[in-house]
Amino acid sequence: MENIVILGATGSIGTSTLELLTQFPDRFRVRLLVANRQVDKMRDWISLVQPEYVALIDPEAAALLKSTLPHGCQTQVLDTTEQVTQIIVDASTTTVVSAIVGAAGLHFTWAAIQAGKKVLLANKESLVMSGELFMAEAERSGAQILPVDSEHNAIFQCLPESIQANLERGSLTRAGIEKILLTASGGPFLHATPAQLAQVSPAQACQHPNWSMGPKISVDSATMMNKGLEYIEARWLFDAQPDQIEIVVHPESVIHSMVQFQDGSTLAQMGQADMKIPIGHCLFYPKRQATGMAALDFKQLGSLTFFEPDLKKFPNLRLAIQACNAGQAATTALNAANEIAVAAFLKGKIAFTDIAEMNETCLEEMPAMATNTLDDILWVDQRARTWVIDQIEKRVDLC
Ligand code: NAD
Ligand code: MG
Repeated sequence: MENIVILGATGSIGTSTLELLTQFPDRFRVRLLVANRQVDKMRDWISLVQPEYVALIDPEAAALLKSTLPHGCQTQVLDTTEQVTQIIVDASTTTVVSAIVGAAGLHFTWAAIQAGKKVLLANKESLVMSGELFMAEAERSGAQILPVDSEHNAIFQCLPESIQANLERGSLTRAGIEKILLTASGGPFLHATPAQLAQVSPAQACQHPNWSMGPKISVDSATMMNKGLEYIEARWLFDAQPDQIEIVVHPESVIHSMVQFQDGSTLAQMGQADMKIPIGHCLFYPKRQATGMAALDFKQLGSLTFFEPDLKKFPNLRLAIQACNAGQAATTALNAANEIAVAAFLKGKIAFTDIAEMNETCLEEMPAMATNTLDDILWVDQRARTWVIDQIEKRVDLC
């Protein structure tokens, strides 16, 4: 029996995870569900899976949830982040699904890594911000990281067992690997003109052609920042050097990424564009378990296409690669700037093309800063956020 904590339980990944888990009540016991403020959805999960604990980080939402739970409900509502952290690190918790969106996921994910848990990692922002420290901490604590992000899960599946068993110490070169091919759908605006991009609305940006996801990652996919964040994620997860990661646009999203070997072979992982496949892989790893997901029917697929990403049209991708080469302060600042800019775009405060502009100016403005500890990283994150919020307020005032 695994005792599982799900961070981001009401979101897209959290929901898919819980829909899979509920099929296997003898295998998983839900200890704790964490979300921000979705009272109704959390109440539904409480009645369906009867977790030991739940937490809503927003105090008003937590109070509302508490006051509306049915009489006799056994689930305890936690009030503070300290209580949540205690359950995460508690000896009886075996597994933590990290699926909070954004930098807000770092604190709890870090606690799980420090405590040496099995961590199913969807929250890519944790690695973008603190990848170097994060992987070193996992090595120290013995935490097992299983990548949920579909591309990283695909790469993981194509890697030799020797690396799968020890991601923190594995060497791509020693394992005979030439490079990782990170595939990208290109998002909903792959063929849009620059003039069309300037007019994109939040609703259009959230309409991904292949995947159903939360609003922030949907906008990131539309600007291709998501692929930039994934480039940084791959750099740390697999200790890949810049010349060992190549981004390939593949609009059909059938191949979820590939690994190319020095002997000229390439291994690819393929499947439907449904996150239940990589989540199910992680939940049951190293075994394969039927979860009701259908395999591909190659006779129905049609052709698969591949081409180079357009870094001019999608400057966020170029910025992320540059930040990755510059180091953790740059990737943390870029991630923070992007979160603020995407939130402002979703609220209609700035244009779609302003997101990359804000990100670029923020990177240029940030001074060199040390990132030797998690506190250093949180300081860089805060500084970049404050700077971008200030820029957006000035711009809104001018309108
Ligand atoms: P989502 O917006 O659907 O859900 C986000 C979840 O995080 C919600 O449960 C929300 O309540 C919770 N949350 C937000 N702020 C919080 C806070 N301050 N404290 C606690 N909980 C908070 O997002 P999603 O699409 O499920 O993505 C979650 C993560 O998984 C992201 O990092 C994303 O990049 C990654 N990911 C998602 C997909 C996908 O297909 N959705 C694929 C790969 C990776
Ligand atoms: Mg992905």
